[in-house]
Amino acid sequence: MLLGACTSAISFAGEGGGPDDGRYCEFTPAPDAGGRAPGLVVGAEVLLPEGNRPGYGVHIRFNGSIGAIGEFDGVRADFPNAAILDCRGNAVLSPGFVNAHEHPAYSWAFPDANLNPGYTHRDEWRLGTDGRVPLPIPPRIDFDSDDPRSTAILLAMELRHLLGGATAIAGSGGVPGVIRSINRHKRRGDPALYDAEADMATFPFSFRVVEDLREECAGGPAYRFPSPFGGNLAFMAFVPHVGEGRRTSCAARAEVARYLKRVLRRDRRYSLIHGVATDREDYALMREFDVTLVWSPRSNLALYGETIDLEGALELDVRIALSTDWSPSGSFNMREEAKCARRVAGDAGVALPGEALWHMSTGNGAYALGLEDRFGAIRPGLWADLILVRHAGGDPYDAVLTATDEDILATWVDGRAILLSESLDMPLSGRECVTLEGVAPKVCGVLGTFGLSAESFAGHIKDVVPVNDTHRQAPCKIQR
Ligand SMILES: [Zn+2]
Repeated sequence: MLLGACTSAISFAGEGGGPDDGRYCEFTPAPDAGGRAPGLVVGAEVLLPEGNRPGYGVHIRFNGSIGAIGEFDGVRADFPNAAILDCRGNAVLSPGFVNAHEHPAYSWAFPDANLNPGYTHRDEWRLGTDGRVPLPIPPRIDFDSDDPRSTAILLAMELRHLLGGATAIAGSGGVPGVIRSINRHKRRGDPALYDAEADMATFPFSFRVVEDLREECAGGPAYRFPSPFGGNLAFMAFVPHVGEGRRTSCAARAEVARYLKRVLRRDRRYSLIHGVATDREDYALMREFDVTLVWSPRSNLALYGETIDLEGALELDVRIALSTDWSPSGSFNMREEAKCARRVAGDAGVALPGEALWHMSTGNGAYALGLEDRFGAIRPGLWADLILVRHAGGDPYDAVLTATDEDILATWVDGRAILLSESLDMPLSGRECVTLEGVAPKVCGVLGTFGLSAESFAGHIKDVVPVNDTHRQAPCKIQR
């Protein structure tokens, strides 16, 4: 593949825009700090785990972590040498969304035309069992620094999630150093790609579950699953796919039963991805044994026509983390997933306020991965993975959940601005910011790192990867 020239559409940090240009925020560069690294104080309505705080300030430290939090004037006074981004009255500052389950290596494509919600168990769409038409799965794409096309495709996939409010995704694949990626370190290169670990393996359920459980489902003895692979990984959360099928699927129900026996050990953090075939009895156990349900309503509905018993899960107080699963059947980003979750709630006659959805999209995702001490909240010492969006009044949680591209003021991963509104001053980034066609915020410190220009990037991904066009997403529709 040819690389385009690297200059024309790029605007470099420092060009244009003085401190008074921002309509939503006022930026004051750091005064000369005499060689000390001063960080940045952001003023906004701040969403803390314990509630929303208008007129607050948050100090982003130079090392990429969150520092002091408090009334804006107090924080500002405590850090007289820091740069200031004062957006009070116009913006909300939230932790970035934690997308607790994705398949980044497969999540770059549009859904296939054969996608239909008629499957009863995962084996049907994956293997074509029971005479079903398998779902064509897009080829896996892994990062290869010598291949600009695969790099551009994976970058576009990550950009799609960043524009949708996520700052972390859990799953196998992606590119190093852009969105925060979570998965186990198994191969050379993994530590550079995954900066925190969770065990996302599909174990204990193989991709021939129906076959494995055939006897049991026919009334025979209970199937015994093989022992876990990988030894003692108690330090890491276990986040497997379980119960991927309708509640009428014996195999899917049996998976849930087996897994919930396993979690009784309480020997590590357990979560459960999908759990379409769960019921109220399962939710009672999950609550008691602290198992987080990682929920991807759109993908569930697109494949199986049904999803979890949301009313039951909420009544029994199960911790739920939202996630997108993958683009072939799931939401293109976390905001679209939240929209689908709301639709499911509305259909079930269940109240799902913005604040609850926000917890499902932030702290609960981090908890599902056993990484709540690293990110997923605005707390001193956590990584500064933050999103700042316009807010003209009304529910601040809804402002974060429904923000459009144009509402994005800034997104930080590790304290580094990666998305930046045109209305903000480029020195805020300190890195090269690029304008991409059809994307409102500038993208900073990313394309050039991988030897891509705005033009070459656009050329590689055109009609291949959905970035911010959600029209061709799988439908979020309950089948009756
Ligand atoms: Zn999955």
